Amino acid sequence: MRVLVTGGAGFLGSHLIDRLMAQGHEVLCLDNFYTGHKRNILNWVGHPYFELIRHDITEPIRLEVDQIYHLACPASPVHYQYNPVKTIKVNVMGTLNMLGLAKRVKARFLLASTSEVYGDPDVHPQTEDYRGNVNCIGTRSCYDEGKRVAETLAFDYHRQNNVDIRVMRIFNTYGPRMLENDGRVVSNFIVQALKGIPLTIYGDGSQTRSFCYASDLIEGMIRLMNGDHIGPVNIGNPGEYTILELAQTIQKMVNPDAKLVFKPLPQDDPKQRQPDITRAKQWLGWKPTISLQEGLKLTIDDFRTRLEAQKS
Ligand code: NAD
Ligand code: UDP
Ligand code: UDP
Repeated sequence: MRVLVTGGAGFLGSHLIDRLMAQGHEVLCLDNFYTGHKRNILNWVGHPYFELIRHDITEPIRLEVDQIYHLACPASPVHYQYNPVKTIKVNVMGTLNMLGLAKRVKARFLLASTSEVYGDPDVHPQTEDYRGNVNCIGTRSCYDEGKRVAETLAFDYHRQNNVDIRVMRIFNTYGPRMLENDGRVVSNFIVQALKGIPLTIYGDGSQTRSFCYASDLIEGMIRLMNGDHIGPVNIGNPGEYTILELAQTIQKMVNPDAKLVFKPLPQDDPKQRQPDITRAKQWLGWKPTISLQEGLKLTIDDFRTRLEAQKS
């Protein structure tokens, strides 16, 4: 099959491409390198089944493909809030263009949506039929509302134009290849602990998140794409931790002498988040297999190698 991955040079996109290439597909990686990096897909550059296209998806593009994994969008609050109008454009105009492409070539289209569509949830854990608690004028809304519109677009292209869609709601995912300056919590804490600088806890650290390892997430994504259910489906690891627990775990694993410092909590930061994955289990036969300890170890090893390479 010929498969397009938008945002393919990013953290999750590049892990997905590794799997698709191993399965023998022809892969088109489309990215503008906003938060992605060529290094992530360097392994495949020059491979006859791999093509790298530098393109901004807010502009139309014509390609001939069988499947589209639509991941392009900055995912870390630091990056998506840096240029919020651009974040909305990526989610609205970018998703519209990719759905227009899917419609023209009759490709199956998977949207990488997010647990952020639930906002600061007052239902816990979050099931797919929960409609969310999102502030439409806050600093996170360019991303949250952007993804909500992206989901609406996908469902309307499905109803109006018979586009074959899949909608995946991704919960916090971490792993090797996250950029050092990604800004999300796992990479921040690991980099800080490795550098021996204080781990920055926002607020009092009592807010919770549930962390999924990248390979588990990608397995769920591929199953959803190739299964019969359009979704939405939550994919994440239900293991829930406070941010303080996460900091202490990483501190213990990397550098027991590292200090913890408390910084102001960003606006609208969700207080709790945990996926209900009943649907993923029933529809996709999927559940996560990598524990937080195992996943953190692999991620820490990757960051350590990269940081040491920079020193030498
Ligand atoms: P990432 O920032 O590493 O990857 C996003 C990629 O999209 C980057 O390579 C970036 O350069 C590219 N991109 C951004 N704007 C673009 C544009 N206008 N045109 C072309 N390419 C563009 O993030 P990630 O963690 O790999 O996330 C991938 C997708 O999964 C995103 O859509 C994100 O919203 C979603 N998601 C991720 C998580 C997570 O925890 N990792 C959670 C929920 C949802
Ligand atoms: N589009 C694209 N590539 C394609 C087909 C469409 O980028 O191969 C874009 C197109 O430029 C438009 C959007 O997708 O901006 C939506 O396309 P659709 O055909 O649904 O709408 P229309 O072009 O009729 O407004
Ligand atoms: N966070 C933190 N220190 C950091 C980065 C993030 O305490 O250096 C907190 C953040 O306030 C949030 C949680 O960790 O409560 C997860 O943040 P992240 O940016 O990883 O993802 P999201 O908020 O989108 O779930």
